[in-house]
Amino acid sequence: MALRFHNTLSGQVEDFTPLEGDKVRMYTCGLTVYDYGHIGNYRTFVFQDILRRYLKYRGYEVLQVMNLTDVDDNTIRGAKAAGIPLRDYTDKFIQAFEVDRQLLNLETPEISVRATDHIDDMVKLIQELEAKGYAYRSDGSVYFSVRSFPSYGKLAQVDLSGLRPGARVDTDKYDKTDARDFVLWKAAKEGEPFWETPLGPGRPGWHIECSAMSMRYLGETFDIHSGGIDLTFPHHENEIAQSEAATGKPFVRYWLHAEHLIVNGEKMSKSLGNFYTLRDLIARGHKPTAIRYLLASVPYRKQLNFTFDGLHQAQHSIERLRNLRSRLTEEKFPVGENPELQARAQAARQAFEDALDDNLNTAEALAAIFDLVRDANTAMDHGEFREGNRPVILDVLERWDRVFAVLEDTDHAKLRQFGLVKTVEGSVTADSVPVKPLADEEIEKRIAERDAARRRGDFARSDKIRADLLSVGVILEDTKTGTRWKRK
Ligand SMILES: [Zn+2]
Repeated sequence: MALRFHNTLSGQVEDFTPLEGDKVRMYTCGLTVYDYGHIGNYRTFVFQDILRRYLKYRGYEVLQVMNLTDVDDNTIRGAKAAGIPLRDYTDKFIQAFEVDRQLLNLETPEISVRATDHIDDMVKLIQELEAKGYAYRSDGSVYFSVRSFPSYGKLAQVDLSGLRPGARVDTDKYDKTDARDFVLWKAAKEGEPFWETPLGPGRPGWHIECSAMSMRYLGETFDIHSGGIDLTFPHHENEIAQSEAATGKPFVRYWLHAEHLIVNGEKMSKSLGNFYTLRDLIARGHKPTAIRYLLASVPYRKQLNFTFDGLHQAQHSIERLRNLRSRLTEEKFPVGENPELQARAQAARQAFEDALDDNLNTAEALAAIFDLVRDANTAMDHGEFREGNRPVILDVLERWDRVFAVLEDTDHAKLRQFGLVKTVEGSVTADSVPVKPLADEEIEKRIAERDAARRRGDFARSDKIRADLLSVGVILEDTKTGTRWKRK
């Protein structure tokens, strides 16, 4: 099956073919670094990570540019409020973002760029727009004339009938129903950072930043541009106008947008008290891989309803996967092959790839792997698993994890590395991150698994289960009448 993506520009699901052989050139709008990233931001970044990982899985060579918006209305306001220079203010959040990205196993883009390092590129692009008649000056600022670009509105389907001639907007964000000439270069203002340039003293508007930086590294036409759905208008619409007006060429071939994340069915907002940064969740004891799993579990074009219940289930699902992998690597099986299980493993791999080929249907890809988890566990429990099944199923798991990246249990090591492990009475210890208590039925299930392992003489396995339970505060006691357990 061919790889297909939903393209916001056409409103259709289209076969994906890069411009040049197996190379995919892709731009993603990164964080505006005026605060810590919240889980809505990370929903988009996890989607983009799944996208790049799957492109690589499919044999493409990915060149991804991610920008960091370190000058815009928000960053300037934040720096002012903190009373520190803009660069110092944004540095702090860029570092935090780097840490968050590593915690969530987000691969590092080939090129990460800061807007303030590319002011010259932006100035040149604005000069070109001026020279071609798409931009005009007013009070020291430069504006893009929306009327001069007839296909304005093609991405977000903007109705321009209400456009008033000469109406301008200086803010970076405005509504689709309020399309106006937007600012490319903002005249210097008292108390705001500015750059001395041939355009006069001032700073870039938000939208021109991404046009200039993407084309600088990826060329005038490139393959994929992605971001959160809220960036469609005005940000991406304006990027198209600026870039295509300047070059006369199509800017981006595939536009991919991730839907919103909501919390318990409501819009996430600070005033509702349901606003979470990644760090808020970690401080509550949740593991980054579980957060990644949850954020990846809903196909990107569907709204994701974040709940703590869902997060616990995500953790549980990861444990099932890791558990199967431990069984596969640790248990002993009779020689031979169970052909039915081999066929199921192949089918699971096919289903997982078909699902992701289909506009990254992550929910289906998860379902495919859990069918295999169930089948493999059942075969093991019934003594129907054979040595020859082991490498095949391990291979499917490994392939799946190249995209989902949750099998390795690296949370603790990373949290310690970044000093984010919760401390008990001031001491940082490996055991001090609160662990969600296991449900009774889950404990009973593990004990039954351990009994089965002991009966077949697999003491390595039974010891591992005992140790795992102990690590989450469950103590086992073997008595004549069976195994009893209690919580620490
Ligand atoms: Zn952008």
